Amino acid sequence: MVLALPPTRLPESAESLRAEVRQFLTEQDFVPGVDTWLSSFDPEFSRRLGERGWLGMTWPKRYGGHERSALERFVVIEELLAAGAPVAAHWVADRQSAPSLLRFGTEGQRQKLVPAIARGECYFAIGMSEPDSGSDLASVRTKATRDGDGWRLDGTKVWTSGAHHCHYMIALCRTGPDRHGGLTQFVVDLAAPGVQIRPIELLTGEHHFNEVVLDNVYVPGDQLLGTEGDGWKQVTSELANERSGPERILSTAQLLIELARYAETARDTRTLATLGGLFAQMWSIRQLSLRVAGALDRGASVEVEAALVKDLGTRFEQEVVDAVRVVLAGNVDPDGRAAALLTHAVLHSPGFTLRGGTTEILGVIVARGLGL
Ligand SMILES: Cc1cc2nc3c(=O)[nH]c(=O)nc-3n(C[C@H](O)[C@H](O)[C@H](O)COP(=O)(O)OP(=O)(O)OC[C@H]3O[C@@H](n4cnc5c(N)ncnc54)[C@H](O)[C@@H]3O)c2cc1C
Repeated sequence: MVLALPPTRLPESAESLRAEVRQFLTEQDFVPGVDTWLSSFDPEFSRRLGERGWLGMTWPKRYGGHERSALERFVVIEELLAAGAPVAAHWVADRQSAPSLLRFGTEGQRQKLVPAIARGECYFAIGMSEPDSGSDLASVRTKATRDGDGWRLDGTKVWTSGAHHCHYMIALCRTGPDRHGGLTQFVVDLAAPGVQIRPIELLTGEHHFNEVVLDNVYVPGDQLLGTEGDGWKQVTSELANERSGPERILSTAQLLIELARYAETARDTRTLATLGGLFAQMWSIRQLSLRVAGALDRGASVEVEAALVKDLGTRFEQEVVDAVRVVLAGNVDPDGRAAALLTHAVLHSPGFTLRGGTTEILGVIVARGLGL
């Protein structure tokens, strides 16, 4: 049987865009890092991407988008990630919040929020996890109760990446007793009275995570996202966007580049074999991610495939950290760039296979999807 893989070389339009992005990146002033889509928050950089038309690339022009193909978007984000550029400010909004607003939101919500996201000026946090609800997301307890035309929200969200910098959070809340059918999503203004954002420090001492306490927060009725009781269905489709992109493969790309640089000078067979093995793996997972991007663009339901990309991709990212640590140990300047990237990656890598769904949970999703 011949497997129909996407072409190794993308269409000319996508490749010329790649050259444009590379040129743009050489003109920017930033320190390349690892895991930058989660932790390198730079609103000015996001605005510059917005000006270039590299946010909201596939969305309708009437909402500030650019009506380009999923492949073209893939190329742009792949280049930004590979360069270790500071893309965290707009990442969640561009990847999943705006697509959810476009799919489930009201015309008013789309008009108000999506163009600002495409300009790189409006940032969103993910309000799914709670202190007692992570893997078992359907058990969320943050409660939304009707109050006149609007709603009152009470509860605590946790591990909320970047909430202290963001304008809005899409919160999954309980509006009824039914485990799945009693969930609803709301667009919460993070500056609203009653919202408290408390920092949770990472191992590195960085402030990235937060606990977001919602204490009797009033949310106007027109900020309910989609349909009351459809929160579970909506979140599931949002997670396909969250799990399937190249950021699940390329968080450690800068480290892989350091390994390639070292291999070029060292030229020992073991290092070259390690590098070759990692690149081969990366390439095959990338092919899968590319296919899922195309399927998502066509409106297909790809939750299982997305879970597979996330599982394979994040395990690969951790493998890069382990391999680079073994090869570079004692062989690089301890005060140099490679050592700094490695330290950062070692401290961030445990989170790769947790965020967006743990390895075990992804395994369950894939097994169920295969009918096992
Ligand atoms: C870097 C990072 C950023 C994050 N950002 C956000 C964010 O912005 N917004 C947000 O809402 N959340 C965020 N999260 C939270 C993340 O989604 C949760 O950590 C994840 O879903 C796991 O939930 P938990 O931490 O409660 O672990 P638990 O659900 O308590 O799981 C603990 C362990 O038990 C295993 N386990 C649980 N249930 C089962 C089962 N049924 N079968 C087998 N094994 C099981 C898990 O795999 C895991 O190893 C982030 C997490 C990280 C690490």
